Amino acid sequence: MSESCDPVAAMFGSNVFNEKAMRERLPKNVFESLRQIIAGNQPLDPAMADIIANAIKDWAIEKGATHYCHWFQPMTGRTAEKHDAFISPTSEGGIVMEFSGKELIQGEPDASSFPSGGLRVTFEARGYTAWDCTSPVFVKENGKNITLYIPSAFCSYTGAALDKKTPLLRSMDALSRQALRVLRKLGNTISRRVTPTLGAEQEYFLIERSSCRNRLDLLLTGRTLFGAAPPRGQEMDDHYFGTMHERVASFMNEVNKELWKLGVSAKTQHNEVAPGQYEIAPVFATVNVAADHNQLTMETLDKVALRNGFVCLLHEKPFAGVNGSGKHVNWSMVTDDGINLLDPGKTPHDNMVFMIMLCAIVRAVDKYSKLLRASVANAGNEHRLGAHEAPPAIISIFLGEQLTDIFDQLAEGPARSSKPSGELKFGVSTMQSLPKDCTDRNRTSPFAFTGNRFEFRMVGSSQSTSGPNFVLNTIVADALAEIADELEKDGDLEATVQKILQRIAKEHRHIVFNGDNYSGQWVEEAQKRGLPNIGSTVEALDSAMEEQNVQLFERHEVLSRTELQARIDILLEAYSMSINIEACTMLDIAKRQILPASAIYSGRLGEVVRAVGDAGGDAGAFHKMLDELCDLVNSLYSDVGALEEAVAQACTIKGNVSKQAGAYRQDVIPAMEAVRQTADKLEMVVDADLWPLATYAEMLFLR
Ligand code: ADP
Ligand code: MG
Repeated sequence: MSESCDPVAAMFGSNVFNEKAMRERLPKNVFESLRQIIAGNQPLDPAMADIIANAIKDWAIEKGATHYCHWFQPMTGRTAEKHDAFISPTSEGGIVMEFSGKELIQGEPDASSFPSGGLRVTFEARGYTAWDCTSPVFVKENGKNITLYIPSAFCSYTGAALDKKTPLLRSMDALSRQALRVLRKLGNTISRRVTPTLGAEQEYFLIERSSCRNRLDLLLTGRTLFGAAPPRGQEMDDHYFGTMHERVASFMNEVNKELWKLGVSAKTQHNEVAPGQYEIAPVFATVNVAADHNQLTMETLDKVALRNGFVCLLHEKPFAGVNGSGKHVNWSMVTDDGINLLDPGKTPHDNMVFMIMLCAIVRAVDKYSKLLRASVANAGNEHRLGAHEAPPAIISIFLGEQLTDIFDQLAEGPARSSKPSGELKFGVSTMQSLPKDCTDRNRTSPFAFTGNRFEFRMVGSSQSTSGPNFVLNTIVADALAEIADELEKDGDLEATVQKILQRIAKEHRHIVFNGDNYSGQWVEEAQKRGLPNIGSTVEALDSAMEEQNVQLFERHEVLSRTELQARIDILLEAYSMSINIEACTMLDIAKRQILPASAIYSGRLGEVVRAVGDAGGDAGAFHKMLDELCDLVNSLYSDVGALEEAVAQACTIKGNVSKQAGAYRQDVIPAMEAVRQTADKLEMVVDADLWPLATYAEMLFLR
């Protein structure tokens, strides 16, 4: 079908100034130069910027845009934008629509209210945004507002990175530099750039908007802080891949259309494991573009949900006792001439490029496993990792049968064979046999090889993909740099490659694990193998400042020591703030909703006890009910007091973000758990009509 008569093809990218729009609207020489700039082969000439800006402005105005904005990703993990109209007054009292090259390339928002981790003090508020021309500009419709969005990086007056994008872009350069060194030595003379690719599978919950009405916890923290387990949860295994509810299907249809217009290639959608949980996944793209697209996806899910009477929950653990949400990061490396460096081919053992890349990744992940763990550390993800629903906090690598066999051969000497994959027979005469993948899947592994890419499954659903990705890019760049150093020394190339592969296979065999990562035995086994198991966000983040990591980021010019420290401080602070908000919300709900409702019910029961007694009936059962209720209310009252005390203590810790975060974890979180336990028991004894909060059953099952 031709593009014009296919509605989806016509819609796709219609709001993006993509290559097609560039070709149509830019002079030929400018278009060619811009392509080179985007490919990373030459810098942007300011004179050309005016021509590009003008073409973009005309295009955007035709789409109805009145404003433009630099769209950036501060350390909050979400996005930021400040809109400016294209208007410029004329001497005759009118206006003209203007947009200069300078305005396209550079913005200067007041940076003082973004987290900077001390990289910028309030009185030195200047911050700059710079156009990331490798991610296309687009027009976004938001209600009646139509604005031109310019994907940008954000830094301080001194050039320090204040955002999630700058280190990502720097790490992409580092990875390309080191991968090319290796490729050259292995005989590739053609590729000019190596780019990491990302396909982010996004999980989320959808709940009825009306069930949030009295739930301050959902409103302020994105998760339920109270809620007794419902009689039915996810035990029937009937939601995963189940038939979609009609309203949810309509919601997804709207999400897809919005995303397609923005050039986001939303492709896969299905019901996830928990009731009310879903997934959306795009076709993979270059990591920085994919990171932008994932931000747009999260934002669109939120927006379209509200429009459809739902609320979308992107939190890692909105509900206790049912699965939380992750964001599986599928990652690979591709050359500018289209070679996927993680494509094993039919006989991986004699695919030298693949084997080197694979071994580099195994070494990187093992050597820097704590850093990788730190890259997914936040308050929400702490509920998931290691909770028998998501990968454990222990990082191991699933290679599958075929590659593990090769890895084992390598440790002994050169690998001589690749196990064939075989055929799959259904045992039904009318069905033909199908070719089998050479390895099974392993859904429990935190870092799994899945055929032509790795899938990093520890990332939290609300997190920006940029953090884990810049870490992954940098650690792999580092392992490739070591390999390149060796290959670049004179000597027999084949022999050197063999030596490197063998050394890595021996040294890092302990991180390869193909079994059940959720099992208790694995936790013991991993400990014997010496693999770190870091459950605590605070501990994970603290360890990121180890000297080895500082050196790593400095060596590859991804982050300076101060930039890294600032980042860790921001994340620790964010942890404390999240827990503080949760604790305060909990106190509010307990004191202003749960205790009052319990009081009303106790009063009613008391009256019943008296009335039944006065009438000469046996009020024994009512008495017991009242006793049980009063016991729980008394416990809750004292649990609330203890939580108040713990929060007050944690708040007094000043000047040491790590110590403060530690206090939230050690003292505040257990106090919150105590409050919740008692309150959830109360929910089971208080009259349902008096209970002030939507129940788990309502939230998970009502559509
Ligand atoms: P799963 O079966 O793991 O749930 P999905 O189809 O939901 O798989 O998602 C797989 C993701 O992996 C998609 O976003 C897909 O585009 C992405 N992917 C495929 N190949 C690559 C690659 N070479 N690099 C990065 N991501 C990839
Ligand atoms: Mg999936």
